[in-house]
Amino acid sequence: MLLEVRDLRVEFHTRDGVAKAVDGVSYGVDAGETLAVLGESGSGKSVTAQAVMGILDVPPGRITGGEVVFRGRDLLKLKEDERRKVRGAEMAMIFQDALSSLNPVLSVGDQLAEMFTVHRGMSRRDARARAVELMDRVRIPAARERAGQYPHQFSGGMRQRIMIAMALALEPALIIADEPTTALDVTVQAQVMELLAELRRELGMGLILITHDLGVVADVADRIAVMYAGRIVESAPVHDVYKAPAHPYTRGLLDSVPRLDLKGRELRAIKGLPPNLTRVPPGCAFHPRCPLARDVCRTDEPPLYEVSATRGSACHFWRECLDD
Ligand code: SF4
Ligand code: MG
Repeated sequence: MLLEVRDLRVEFHTRDGVAKAVDGVSYGVDAGETLAVLGESGSGKSVTAQAVMGILDVPPGRITGGEVVFRGRDLLKLKEDERRKVRGAEMAMIFQDALSSLNPVLSVGDQLAEMFTVHRGMSRRDARARAVELMDRVRIPAARERAGQYPHQFSGGMRQRIMIAMALALEPALIIADEPTTALDVTVQAQVMELLAELRRELGMGLILITHDLGVVADVADRIAVMYAGRIVESAPVHDVYKAPAHPYTRGLLDSVPRLDLKGRELRAIKGLPPNLTRVPPGCAFHPRCPLARDVCRTDEPPLYEVSATRGSACHFWRECLDD
């Protein structure tokens, strides 16, 4: 396993009390594999990723347990300067908002070149040549000419390609992309996703793709981990999930996105809202919104049941859900 997150716990101290933003999350990703982490906003998917990257910056956020084993070492045990070396060089992150992640007063060519002068000790001239190569690689047309332009001169989709180029610059073993296409329109979304998937294949990297949109992961992910209220509620190969979800929450997510294979089906949003993390409902956290809920769900927290060798579901009634 390239990355293995084990029983990770992150808490936030808020005015309302302690929020368990990540409550015992375990997942793994191999080299050359794409794991999609799915869930509504506030489910803990971004916080988990930030803990993995070591950029959990919000002061009240605290890792209270677990391990993040990357290439054989637990990153949570490294000192900050060692951690910084891993970040960027061995794992990199792509964010939703390229415009605020890029430096507005530096041309994109210079920003990319800086990766090579700072981290690889290249000459400015060589670094600049590498920058243009990278822009080419993420298929920015007329890369040589456009290298002199500033972030605001690029469209949203092109800016996201520049972010991908930045992330790829040092050839990391793992890329974490947090809602990388959410701000883009649908056609551009598909193109950027495809590019990511292709580069991941070519370079043999591991990719963690964080999204609230099940619609975008079908073609690019190998596995899916679905998060709810800080926990993983279903973990499975992507095709299993599309065929038949083993958790009512996953079913709800599936029913709320358009699917080419199920034309004419009515789209339904999941009723209600995710819980306030300082007051997670007892038993199964999803019970107030779950169409299958019954008494035991209100008192007994479901473990991640083994549905198959490669699949888990945190629902007492996963069999029923599968047969549904
Ligand atoms: Fe629904 Fe109960 Fe399953 Fe939770 S354990 S998802 S409430 S059926
Ligand atoms: Mg987020």
